[in-house]
Amino acid sequence: MIDRCQRDIDYIRISVTDRCNLRCVYCMPEEGVQWVPHNAVLSYEEILRLCRVFAGLGLSKIKLTGGEPLVRRGMDRLIADIKAIPGIRCVTLTTNGVLLAQQLPGLVSAGLDGVNISLDTLNREQFRAITRRDELDRVLAGLNAALECPGLNVKINCLPMGRNDDQLVPLVELARERPLSVRFIEVMPIGLGKELTYRSEDEVRAMLEARFGPMEPFHGRLGNGPCHYFSLPGFAGKVGFISALSHQFCSECNRVRLTSEGFLKTCLQYELGVDLKALMQDGRDDAFLAEAVRQAIYNKPLQHHFADTSGQEALEHHGMSQIGG
Ligand code: SAM
Ligand code: SF4
Repeated sequence: MIDRCQRDIDYIRISVTDRCNLRCVYCMPEEGVQWVPHNAVLSYEEILRLCRVFAGLGLSKIKLTGGEPLVRRGMDRLIADIKAIPGIRCVTLTTNGVLLAQQLPGLVSAGLDGVNISLDTLNREQFRAITRRDELDRVLAGLNAALECPGLNVKINCLPMGRNDDQLVPLVELARERPLSVRFIEVMPIGLGKELTYRSEDEVRAMLEARFGPMEPFHGRLGNGPCHYFSLPGFAGKVGFISALSHQFCSECNRVRLTSEGFLKTCLQYELGVDLKALMQDGRDDAFLAEAVRQAIYNKPLQHHFADTSGQEALEHHGMSQIGG
């Protein structure tokens, strides 16, 4: 659907849980966060009902996220049921990869179209320091299993944060032989991300070009979102950048988010939107839900102001694991 700024909003990120089996330093403290009580998390039936409402409004691409989506049981069933909704064209998953290898056959049979694996380093000690867990081997097993699935679109998401500078080249090397997109995401000042060193796209590009030579902008379409891609000579895959801070892309933003508690969030930076779980608990029918979603999306903020947060109202106070990234 078209919002008041003439943006076509066709993509929704749905967080299925706030729980996670890692504790990335930029996302979650070692002790975890105050978990949402189980009865406050959307049930699968509620998620499916909302997906039908979203599809009716033209939201055709769905990304399942978390917390870690694969710690919630029955993701294969959920994916199959979402894929069966008329109007849904694409269902993908963002995961830390720890549980991916074991669940992949079921997810792919359910119709999963693509998987984004978050991976900031290939160095075991660094991985343990960043995620506070010794799980690199299982993540790499998940990545390799995903790359062996014909037709599955596989991407790596890396947050460049200074301490992994030496890993950016090795991560890009993964795309030399394989049709894999390696994407660098600028750390956003949300939750623990506020305390992290921030590497800009230009800094990362300079590091990569010093090793690989000039990168060629790639103008084809590779995903659903604001990532822009580059080709490297002789590489099967692409390098991408999602640069919300240095290359603000709000005028092209096509996405909204649904938290695991059922709040439809229309901009990452603000707590603006509508509590759809509360409306369902109040017994509202689908037409009422659709109108509430339509109004919230229509009024999606024009842009974020991460660079200047002074004196603004309704700023987001939840961390990334609660929002879904
Ligand atoms: N657990 C899954 C994962 O790690 O892919 C899904 C949820 S996680 C919150 C989604 C994405 O958000 C991950 O790629 C993670 O790197 C990213 N993320 C977390 N905190 C961030 C921050 N402050 N700025 C930018 N991205 C962040
Ligand atoms: Fe978990 Fe993903 Fe947050 Fe890391 S980024 S703590 S894997 S939710």
